[in-house]
Amino acid sequence: MAFAYEPSAKQIIDLSEGNKIAANEDILRQVFLNPSVKDKPVCVVSINGTFRQGKSFLINFFVRYLKLKYKLKKITSEKWLNAEDGNISGTAWKCGSGRHTVGILVWSEIFITELPSGEEIAIVLLDSQGTFDVDTTKQDCAAIFAISTLISSVQIFNLKEKISLLDLEHLECFSGYGQLALQEGSRWNAAPFQNLWFLIRDWPYQFEFDFGTSGGQQLLNSVVSRTTELTSELNIQKDNILKLFENIYCCLLPHPGETVAKSPSFSGKLEDIDERFLKHVEEFVPKILSQENLVPKTINGEKIKVSDLFTFIQLYCDYFSGGNVPPLPTMYMATAEAQLKIAVTESGAMYKEAMDEIVLVDASLENDVLEEHHLQQKQNAMDNFNNKKILGNIEIKRKFKTLLKGKLDQRFIEYRRLNRVKQEKEKEIAYQQQAFETHL
Ligand code: GDP
Repeated sequence: MAFAYEPSAKQIIDLSEGNKIAANEDILRQVFLNPSVKDKPVCVVSINGTFRQGKSFLINFFVRYLKLKYKLKKITSEKWLNAEDGNISGTAWKCGSGRHTVGILVWSEIFITELPSGEEIAIVLLDSQGTFDVDTTKQDCAAIFAISTLISSVQIFNLKEKISLLDLEHLECFSGYGQLALQEGSRWNAAPFQNLWFLIRDWPYQFEFDFGTSGGQQLLNSVVSRTTELTSELNIQKDNILKLFENIYCCLLPHPGETVAKSPSFSGKLEDIDERFLKHVEEFVPKILSQENLVPKTINGEKIKVSDLFTFIQLYCDYFSGGNVPPLPTMYMATAEAQLKIAVTESGAMYKEAMDEIVLVDASLENDVLEEHHLQQKQNAMDNFNNKKILGNIEIKRKFKTLLKGKLDQRFIEYRRLNRVKQEKEKEIAYQQQAFETHL
């Protein structure tokens, strides 16, 4: 199945069939295993939150920025929202009460740019239907929220008017994951997740905290600072959340105006959107997507590649597909398992590439020379595996190490066979040549 020419939002995780979580393998393959992007480090920006609170609408601004900045290279100043670039469109948002984002959607176009260090980076955008609406059970919502947090480097928690205790509860469910990581990953010295943004839509209290990120920071400080009115349990909850993310930010957005909020005929024209909203969106989007603010996705400090998302998403969906949110140790082990699988594949490919260069030439090798090459390349592949900062306990790591060793030895048997075929052919030619010369 090939994509239509126009990039669009594609469903990678589906909740619609009987509310079972399933990964859409075809789409995952097309987006994340695309040869032009698959080996690049990746920044995954996910926007998540309660249904029908403007997530898709906002993603359209993200897509517009990415297109103008990294594809058309048209953005040269802070003013990048111009009517001449057309209406805001993209993930087909619509007015009314029906829902149109079920599960997790990915923007099918992956944008490529460079970090200030010069390293290339791919940018992936996700739109997640994460919390409670009439059709989705609490368990499923928690699963979507969990998966999108596990795979993103920037998680934007889209909320209406305030940060509630329930919102914090959602996040706190990950604290056990962080603790496990601390206990088991001896090299672990950072928060398990990277950047979290609280994005408050229709912020009603401008007189208290102003719109934008500075007002947002003040709101965040007031929410996360210890207060005597809260029970100690709630204070512990907040402390746990603070330990989960490397950075936590907040931005307060104004209401976009009645036409956006209510008019069924709203077509995405910039002139129909409240000016203050546009001003703050224009400031907010580059805080996530400008080159200096892009965050490569890491797990235990190890950068992941676009193609790794294919493995992670499928594995998480398998763990969650039983209909229940798996316990945190299970989620943690799923992450470790995905990392280990990727490390085995990568180290195996490294061995193969090096051995192919040595063995797939015309002449055969002496058996002991071939063996020496095998031992050397096997050592290189094992070192590559051992040097990865992988989550998980000793047992699971040992299991995958044995698996890798087995794979390399198996490959060596095949190289030995190929070499033997060549040796026999060479013997045969030498014999014929000798017979020919004797005959002469
Ligand atoms: P999603 O379900 O969270 O993806 O929400 P949508 O982006 O589809 O938006 C749902 C409805 O809210 C649409 O009618 C949008 O035009 C409207 N909308 C978009 N952004 C905002 C906002 O910031 N505030 C309000 N009040 N409405 C918005």
